[in-house]
Amino acid sequence: KELPADAVTDNSRRQVEHACFSFVTPKQTAYPEMLHVSPEMLEQFGLSEADSKSESFLNVFTGNTVYPGTKPYAMCYGGHQFGNWAGQLGDGRAINLFEVNHNNNQWVLQLKGAGETPYSRTADGLAVLRSSIREYLCSEAMHHLGVPTTRALSLALTGDMVLRDVMYNGNPAYEKGALVCRVSPSFLRFGNYEIFAARQDVSLLKTLVDFTIKHHFPHLGQPSKDTYLKFFNEVTQRTLRMIIHWQRVGFVHGVMNTDNMSILGLTIDYGPYGWLEGFDYGWTPNTTDRQHKRYRYGNQPNIGLWNLYKLANALYPLIEEVEPLEAILDAFKVNFETESLTMMRNKLGLQMDDVFDASLIQQLEDCLLLAETDMTIFFRNLAKFEKEDASAGFNIIKDAFYNMETVSEDIKQKWNDWFARYASRLELETLSNSERKKHMNLVNPKYVLRNYMAQLAIDEADKGNYSLIDELFQLLKQPYSEQPENEKWFAKRPEWARNKVGCSM
Ligand code: AMP
Ligand code: MG
Ligand code: MG
Repeated sequence: KELPADAVTDNSRRQVEHACFSFVTPKQTAYPEMLHVSPEMLEQFGLSEADSKSESFLNVFTGNTVYPGTKPYAMCYGGHQFGNWAGQLGDGRAINLFEVNHNNNQWVLQLKGAGETPYSRTADGLAVLRSSIREYLCSEAMHHLGVPTTRALSLALTGDMVLRDVMYNGNPAYEKGALVCRVSPSFLRFGNYEIFAARQDVSLLKTLVDFTIKHHFPHLGQPSKDTYLKFFNEVTQRTLRMIIHWQRVGFVHGVMNTDNMSILGLTIDYGPYGWLEGFDYGWTPNTTDRQHKRYRYGNQPNIGLWNLYKLANALYPLIEEVEPLEAILDAFKVNFETESLTMMRNKLGLQMDDVFDASLIQQLEDCLLLAETDMTIFFRNLAKFEKEDASAGFNIIKDAFYNMETVSEDIKQKWNDWFARYASRLELETLSNSERKKHMNLVNPKYVLRNYMAQLAIDEADKGNYSLIDELFQLLKQPYSEQPENEKWFAKRPEWARNKVGCSM
């Protein structure tokens, strides 16, 4: 009610001026079928699993019924894509259905793949099963890992076929159409603010910023230059915190364009994302970014900051002072170093601060790069290390190596040196080996959605078997727990899956 909407209510593609969103109607689907529903999200809305099996639930979350009294809409935003201003982008295939307020939580429910909107540009507004499975599973898995993220309520088949011309199997191909209902307190992105700054529509920019603060940052107070600075500062801190979590669990977003940066500091837009298998700062899952590797693992913090500069530029017309904005951006670099060190100390089970910790961690990272070493298996197994027995260290972690033949005597020696140093560093700590193990296992997940796991679920789903989706969904609810019956998922990527990553389209 408070944000200016586009007066036109047809879905035709166009530049939408002087509006934050456009009313649209989700596309009717042919033979909708609910494949999976998240019980945790149902609970957030006060719904039961029985409710989710009703005809009306199916119809609302596959776009066939507009919930009575609601007006679905698509948002207008712009963005910097791969470093360049891309103009108007907007919700090209996402439609906000309505909001739910329950137990003092505000949620926006959004259908992804619900058909064309004014922002669809040259594309069809649809989503295929493969990318929908990836988004559905990963966003809930990230939540259970403790990473700030948008959520997912449901995954459904539309019953329509969607034409995709992708490298997926080498041919243009029809694929099963699907819909994910994503959920978040807000889907506002940096690009929502950038578009109005780019159009020099300061009045609309102010309306949107004031709306954001009122609804999502009410503790910051009434609109004023000072409040806008506090707002920017908080977005900076939340973004930093999110990226620290990504680095901790080895998540690579893959397409950190400013239109994919949530104003709430949530992981949003699960496209070509991937998980580190071998620890590698240079790795990116995005096959369209293999040359410059802009969005590689090791560059995520820098890109986060780059994107915050773009947001600062967008907010500048409301603040009109460069120095305080720059001070916030400068603090990001320092804070990132500090937070990153704390995060790595936690991964190593170190509770005290020692001046040599940064160098200990650097030496570890150098070792991890010597031969392809699975990040998840390495850190999980490291928790079994006993400080009295440094010489056993190498054996404890050696399952993490992808190819023992590449681990030379020289590399083994470097590892032994590191373990000796780690053992003596642990002497400064007061925790027993078993207490330290407990702490480490709370920050080093045992189970993550490895790229091949999502791929297996997709391959099965293509054949009409959806049980692996549920198996992985259940597994990833407890990523830090030992699950003896699921030990098979605590395994290195099989060789067939090397270089196989998902596609976002
Ligand atoms: P992404 O790279 O997924 O963040 O998408 C960038 C822009 O392209 C956003 O404005 C999306 O809404 C839009 N987009 C992506 N896929 C489609 C599609 N199949 N149909 C319409 N718009 C799309
Ligand atoms: Mg996007
Ligand atoms: Mg996307």
